[in-house]
Amino acid sequence: MVNDEIVNSFQIKRNILLNPGPSTTTDTVKFAQIVPDICPREKEFVSMMKDIRKSLLKIVHADSEKYTSVIFCGSGTINIDICLNSLLPKDKKILIVNNGAYSQRAVEICEYYGLPYIDLKFADNELPNLQFVEKTLKENPDIAIVHTTHNETGTGILNPIREIGEIAHKYNAVFTVDTTSTLAMRPIDIEQDNIDFCMASAQKGLMAMTGVSFIIGNKKLIEQSKDYPKRSYYCNLFLQYDFFEKTGEMHFTPPVQTIYALKQALDEYFEEGEDEKWARHTRVFNEIHKELDLLGFKNYIKREWQAGLVVSVIYPDDIAWNFEKIHNYCYENGYTIYPGKISNTNTFRLCALGAIDVVDIQNFFKVFREALKVNNVAIPVIYKEG
Ligand SMILES: *Cc1c(COP(=O)(O)O)cnc(C)c1O
Repeated sequence: MVNDEIVNSFQIKRNILLNPGPSTTTDTVKFAQIVPDICPREKEFVSMMKDIRKSLLKIVHADSEKYTSVIFCGSGTINIDICLNSLLPKDKKILIVNNGAYSQRAVEICEYYGLPYIDLKFADNELPNLQFVEKTLKENPDIAIVHTTHNETGTGILNPIREIGEIAHKYNAVFTVDTTSTLAMRPIDIEQDNIDFCMASAQKGLMAMTGVSFIIGNKKLIEQSKDYPKRSYYCNLFLQYDFFEKTGEMHFTPPVQTIYALKQALDEYFEEGEDEKWARHTRVFNEIHKELDLLGFKNYIKREWQAGLVVSVIYPDDIAWNFEKIHNYCYENGYTIYPGKISNTNTFRLCALGAIDVVDIQNFFKVFREALKVNNVAIPVIYKEG
């Protein structure tokens, strides 16, 4: 536990990050990084790693007999890389159910490794068509992995993972899901949601520091992958898992201080509680919508399809609107907003991640309104017809 005296003796400016991660952290998580120097091969550190791996399973209600968690040093993208390059048997294919930027990243990973894949593309503001998913699996019995993204962070759309997983399993494919922007926020039950592998990085739902990521998945499937083609050394799932099982440690040097922050963040996660935390994110999300509605902003994704964490807002048709200027005004006042990730529509994003609550959103919108006024953007904002 972090010493309150130390925390209170420092005054760290509290910035509100409304970008899709890294998220606003508590001071106790920040200060958890300040520890006496320690070699990570010491028992004390190894035992902390063991607790962390157990806690990660608990977040997605995974039975420790069947599932395991494997930690890596890197940002969230490393998990997608590891799952896809490590879990594909020889002469098999990956099916990517792709309706946005993060599934597109999985496609790029396949390209870089030269992995055979099918890119089943859907519009980024539409849910994937499950009949097409099933048809593709039926016609391609060599598909061994189905991969998709839970909350497409680029737009905020929530994909029906339970249904996609069910179809994947019907055709004996392994289901890997990029849950980076839902895990530890929107409740996930690994078994009920038909997930074989899910993943996240410490700096999103868990509100810890960047630099450490983890995969939670089926032990047997990892063990089976032992003899699959080896496409990476540093990013091989079996190798890291095996080392953890034999020694309790990461294969190579872990980001020591970042791991201490993760431990603190996990303690705070369980202290807040799964339902309470999701309720908080939901009230933050609802407040963002309420304020955007008052200003007349339009959403890119249908409200009922949104995952409850990211709002993609369409730029108003006002020549005075300049995202950069609005961003800079907000930033100077302690609030960070983020551009969109959609190629054919100009959007920006406001996210409900992090250690924030309704009052932070109310205060943000005071600043945001000022930013609009200072820049002569009409309120309510204007859109052309259609
Ligand atoms: C943030 C995020 C990632 C990881 O991005 P990094 O920049 O590597 O941390 C991957 N997938 C999704 C869905 C994300 O939201």
